[in-house]
Amino acid sequence: MSDNDQVIVVGGGPVGYTAALNLAHYGIPFTMLEAGPGIFEDPRAGTIHPPTLEMFQRLDVTETFLKRGYVVPNYHYRDRKKGLIASFDLALLADDTAFPFRLMLEQHKVAHILHDKLADFTDFQILRQHAVTGVRQDDDGVVVKADTPDGPKTFSARYVIGCDGGRSQVRKSMDVDFEGFTFEERFLVVTTPYDFGEHGYALTNYIADPEEWCALFKVPGQDDEGIWRVVFPIDPGLSEDEIFDSADIERRLQGFHPKDEPYDVVHRNLYEVHQRVASCYRDGRMFVAGDAAHINNPLGGMGMNFGFHDAFSLTEKLTKVWHEWAEDSLLDLYDRQRRTVASEYLQRQTIENKKNLENQDPASRERFHDELRGIVADKVKQRAYLRRVAMIEGIERAASIT
Ligand SMILES: Cc1cc2nc3c(=O)[nH]c(=O)nc-3n(C[C@H](O)[C@H](O)[C@H](O)COP(=O)(O)OP(=O)(O)OC[C@H]3O[C@@H](n4cnc5c(N)ncnc54)[C@H](O)[C@@H]3O)c2cc1C
Repeated sequence: MSDNDQVIVVGGGPVGYTAALNLAHYGIPFTMLEAGPGIFEDPRAGTIHPPTLEMFQRLDVTETFLKRGYVVPNYHYRDRKKGLIASFDLALLADDTAFPFRLMLEQHKVAHILHDKLADFTDFQILRQHAVTGVRQDDDGVVVKADTPDGPKTFSARYVIGCDGGRSQVRKSMDVDFEGFTFEERFLVVTTPYDFGEHGYALTNYIADPEEWCALFKVPGQDDEGIWRVVFPIDPGLSEDEIFDSADIERRLQGFHPKDEPYDVVHRNLYEVHQRVASCYRDGRMFVAGDAAHINNPLGGMGMNFGFHDAFSLTEKLTKVWHEWAEDSLLDLYDRQRRTVASEYLQRQTIENKKNLENQDPASRERFHDELRGIVADKVKQRAYLRRVAMIEGIERAASIT
């Protein structure tokens, strides 16, 4: 292939691999440039929503996801002092999707499954330890600069897709802003094998509290035996030494769920939390997708799913333009559709999820809990609610934008 006869995908995270596998599926040669030595394995996304499972069916990987992950038929909204407020039954989405549940599967396993699926294809290369430092473009193509173990190198392509995360170098090379804000508090993720399921918790739980809300999830874990992640908000005044102090982590866990024995803590990770959306997802031949285009707090498990939807949307359109079945202007539709839903759904819903969990006002907290009780008591209302939080409405809204 000539140099320009390819697409460059920057970033080999879950969204980069989704873009890559789609390009391979549509017969478009690509080079993936990834800064790290392999797929990162830190404990971030674990939740996969129904529309995502539907999309991945086209790439013939959903069955593998289902074999590796945990099906979550219902999830809980709880209050730390009052206990269960509402149990949401995802089976009510049976008329809306072939997958009326959430799937818990860690993001690095998703990336590995997509990577392995690429073995069915040719005409691509994956270059690790290639950290992109800048991109420039002209009428004919893009030139991507990268630091490699052999020194700086350049790569040419017809288009570049930046799937290089929140600090995206591709986005910084585009003429766009990354508007929004960063929360003062950070989120601590503590991982333990302790089986909260024995105490009536669902596989996914959001637990409100005016002083210290938390979120609790079960994911398959390294040995697929199951492991629980607990997410706590962290006071901005604390140092990392204080946050990671074992006694303090034990105090947090015991405060949430007291037990006689100390907790066995296998991982502790701290994340900064932002709410930002790029002011445009396209600048000529350069695009952003996933966290490079939008970042948000993880309550609701939506960020990576949104990134997957970006990658499917963009590569479908790029394929039509690549094969000259559609005009170049189709690529602007990617920005209009995906950026609109990032603001209308992803940002709005995740900000609202956090506000509800941390709500300090007793009267409005009680009103919200009553509203949730009302929603789960009425199947029609519950289905409408689940269509929004399971991301079905967002997909329909994007499709309605022309
Ligand atoms: C605690 C936590 C829990 C979460 N839970 C969920 C969840 O349940 N569901 C959900 O949907 N989302 C969740 N998210 C969000 C999710 O983790 C992200 O949305 C997801 O990682 C985005 O994937 P990505 O591929 O866009 O970016 P990343 O995963 O950040 O991958 C970017 C890749 O690009 C590479 N890269 C970076 N810079 C360069 C460069 N200059 N050159 C080359 N390569 C580069 C990086 O090495 C990395 O491999 C959670 C986030 C956190 C913090």
